Amino acid sequence: MIRLVRGFKDILPSDTALWQHVEVLVRELLEDFGFSELRIPILEQTELFARSIGTGTDIVEKEMYTFIDRSGDSLTLRPEATASVVRAYIEHGIYAKTPECKLYTTGPMFRRERPQKGRYRQFYQINAEVFGLHDPRADAELILLLMTIVGRLELSGAGLHINSLGCPECRPQFREALKPFLRGQTEELCSNCLRRRDKNPMRIFDCKVPTCKKAMLDAPSILDYLCETCRAHFETVKSSLDRFQIPYQINHRLVRGLDYYTRTTFEVLAEALGAQDAVAGGGRYDGLVKALGGPDQPGVGFAIGVDRLIELLAAQAQSFERRPHLFIAALGLRAQDTAFQWVQEFRMQKVRAEMDFENRSLKSQMRRADKLGVSYTLIVGDRELDDGAVVLRNMTTKEQENVPVQDLVRLVVNRIRTE
Ligand code: ATP
Ligand code: MG
Repeated sequence: MIRLVRGFKDILPSDTALWQHVEVLVRELLEDFGFSELRIPILEQTELFARSIGTGTDIVEKEMYTFIDRSGDSLTLRPEATASVVRAYIEHGIYAKTPECKLYTTGPMFRRERPQKGRYRQFYQINAEVFGLHDPRADAELILLLMTIVGRLELSGAGLHINSLGCPECRPQFREALKPFLRGQTEELCSNCLRRRDKNPMRIFDCKVPTCKKAMLDAPSILDYLCETCRAHFETVKSSLDRFQIPYQINHRLVRGLDYYTRTTFEVLAEALGAQDAVAGGGRYDGLVKALGGPDQPGVGFAIGVDRLIELLAAQAQSFERRPHLFIAALGLRAQDTAFQWVQEFRMQKVRAEMDFENRSLKSQMRRADKLGVSYTLIVGDRELDDGAVVLRNMTTKEQENVPVQDLVRLVVNRIRTE
């Protein structure tokens, strides 16, 4: 038997109702907050990710699914969406027509990481990106949107962490201050961190190795090194969050894995997830549009990890399974034929109806109705058709009533709608 590729997964029918619930709710909220959908391809030129995510990052160094196409081009399955959204913003001149715009996109991402709980090689994200706004209220509004999503989904135990990564003016000073500290941690840091200690010291904050995490507890704080503009920007983000009563924790060790982030950075963490506890992450990336060949327009965005969000919701035992409303137990050929007609008519009226095609015994059909979890069952035999009335059984109360065959669909639809 041919099996799934390692790190990939199927999302089974028993789970898709929950996925759809999340997708519909998030999409609606995004539209309420003024976002329009952009659909981007799954495949891009490798160069796009190398330039935007950064060559020194884990993603670009070892996690991308890259191959040479028959024409000799190096192509990559997208590991994240922001790079593509920025490419589209530039390529289609969106920046010229609507420099200030809010875009969202959803779909699968691909990273060849070590598969483990909460870490897949194909996973799903919902991405929101805002272009053209320097104002810290844009950052706050985006976080408000993210936390509204968390709230509406009734996700419990999800906490917001925020930080500022400064800007090209002030960050170099912090990196310099970090280096002597890191030189004193040679024993504690993993080989990967030692390698990037000089070139990319801030990345070490993002390392998941426990000894590295522990070593960084006493590291200097970037918040002590912010320039006046960055400090004021961060203050407004915080006061806006206060104003909308969004609780947050300031975490000066919060960095993003990707190169292009500036100023506001945030993450939503949920302890219940265990080691991979980030449900969503985002922040400002003011230099990225320009770095990818576009105008000097700022950006701020977030990505929700849908797989982890779903895992949390599933653990909270909410059920979104869509059961059929009605089962028609039909006995006899004529009754079967009539039921077949009714089933289709019910569906046209948005009533989810099911029947058996096998002409099984009443007992076995009632068992099927129970298994499907329907709220009503119609019981119809050839004799009932002759008498002009069939039995409608309420599966919860077990009460039965006769419904005239004439106008049956309308009557039953009304009964189910007034439930
Ligand atoms: P992590 O710290 O968990 O590695 P990340 O910083 O690499 O996450 P981002 O690139 O910011 O993640 O992506 C945003 C969100 O996408 C994460 O918060 C997470 O929920 C989800 N995510 C990232 N990588 C994976 C993966 N391999 N499998 C499932 N979800 C993922
Ligand atoms: Mg990662």
